[in-house]
Amino acid sequence: MIDLHTHSTASDGTDTPSQLVNKALARCITVLGLMDHDTVAGWDEAIAHLRPGLSLVLGSEISAQTSDGISVHMLGMLFNRENSALLEALAKTRESRFGRMEKIISRLNEVGVEISIEEVLAQLSDGATLGRPHLADAMVAKKIVKSRDEAFETYLSNGSKFYVAHYAPTPEDAIRLIKEAGGVAVIAHPLASLRGRIVSIDSFKSMVDAGLDGIEVSHRDQTPDAQELLAKIVKQYGIIATGSSDYHGTGKLNELAEFTTKPEDFEKLEARANARRVVRK
Ligand code: AMP
Ligand code: ZN
Ligand code: FE
Ligand code: FE
Repeated sequence: MIDLHTHSTASDGTDTPSQLVNKALARCITVLGLMDHDTVAGWDEAIAHLRPGLSLVLGSEISAQTSDGISVHMLGMLFNRENSALLEALAKTRESRFGRMEKIISRLNEVGVEISIEEVLAQLSDGATLGRPHLADAMVAKKIVKSRDEAFETYLSNGSKFYVAHYAPTPEDAIRLIKEAGGVAVIAHPLASLRGRIVSIDSFKSMVDAGLDGIEVSHRDQTPDAQELLAKIVKQYGIIATGSSDYHGTGKLNELAEFTTKPEDFEKLEARANARRVVRK
């Protein structure tokens, strides 16, 4: 079983990279993708705990934004971690997440929701990418809400009046950065309409022109109709379909390997990277 999109405590997942590797082995996953938001911070720990039977696809889910403000998540897989242009872009996004968090917090404070940046940072592992889920966790710790889900439904969704964006490259720039670093670019859950505004079908063309390698078709946040449409787009452009769990530990309902990628599709995807970078022991 191949699950190419999971998160650890290096961003907003709740399992450490080593726990994630252990769970993947226990679930008989053969290929695991570690895709923490805007960081490669979890890679070394995952490699250190790798055992025979499991292969690692290391990467990052890059937060991007279109010129008209639509949030897009671009999975960068199997890129060269020495590529400074990509690493600098990730660092710029991570840094801008702090000021953005302060703005969200002050909007919440204005309506009487008492939460501080210190309480949010207390939820964050050392060196991890800060995100709204950590704010949600701080709200759970203060009993303002019962779960991350409730925090998002009540206060934190993309459409809420408390929402503030952070710096992010355009999807095309994210793709170019990934490709120039020798990796493969797969757009994550592009039709996850419950999360907020989604990209138009027309916009896939410019992403393919920029080098898009694949589309995450099978994902719990996309309806069967949306998945069918995406499968057609994959065929139309001759790119690759993936499926994945987007597992976040206890932070979300998503279970490891609840959606998977076909071995033949994974082989095609891996072949599009400029070097063999799947990690095996
Ligand atoms: P951010 O990166 O700060 O914009 O936050 C986005 C992250 O919030 C995504 O990675 C999602 O996994 C997470 N998220 C979005 N909606 C929910 C939800 N309803 N419950 C838990 N996590 C969510
Ligand atoms: Zn996440
Ligand atoms: Fe995502
Ligand atoms: Fe994700």
